[in-house]
Amino acid sequence: MTLHELSTSLHNCQRCKLAKLGRTQVVFGTGNPAASIMFVGEAPGFNEDQKGEPFVGAAGKLLDKLLESAGLSRSQVYIANVIKCRPPNNRDPEPDEVDTCKPFLLQQIELINPKLVCTLGNWATQTILEKKVGITKVKGQAIKLERFVVFPLLHPAAALHQGNLLETLKEDFKKLKAYLDRMDAPAVPTPSTASAPSSTPPATPQSQLDLFGS
Ligand code: URA
Repeated sequence: MTLHELSTSLHNCQRCKLAKLGRTQVVFGTGNPAASIMFVGEAPGFNEDQKGEPFVGAAGKLLDKLLESAGLSRSQVYIANVIKCRPPNNRDPEPDEVDTCKPFLLQQIELINPKLVCTLGNWATQTILEKKVGITKVKGQAIKLERFVVFPLLHPAAALHQGNLLETLKEDFKKLKAYLDRMDAPAVPTPSTASAPSSTPPATPQSQLDLFGS
């Protein structure tokens, strides 16, 4: 199956109750289908539901700025949500909705095959890690799973609602940029530099070194 076929198979999806609770359309995801970096949010809001694209409202504008600060653009990455339909009044997703939609997110990830999945907020982080872990405990660090590395970040909407979180989110995007820069560098010293005193590799966990080298 291609990403396009998956998207088409979800067109006018009726698999969960959100289909009848006022959503306008399924918001599948946008960006580069061959991206090595994917961002996963929670669920479409009002603007996303109208436009059919994730992160096009206020949180999306902030995400654009944060992406730019990490040297990334929307056209380079792929952006999706855990659930693809807007919950009424932007309420939290309910467990049956996540259970119904999660297989499609996982399929989406498998088809895009990113090296890095940046989860935005608690919902995406817990869904991808399959663990009830608080975002503040794991944010801003790389966690290696079998098929890709997860880099949890605060949700941009949380930073818009609680101004004190904005600095933290900006700092974590700096960490993301540093991580990406490290991944672009050669993972192991070349033979010609291996014996030089200055060649000591940075103190990077092996799991991170493995990311773009494998
Ligand atoms: N918040 C999300 O989690 N996803 C969107 O697409 C928009 C806002």
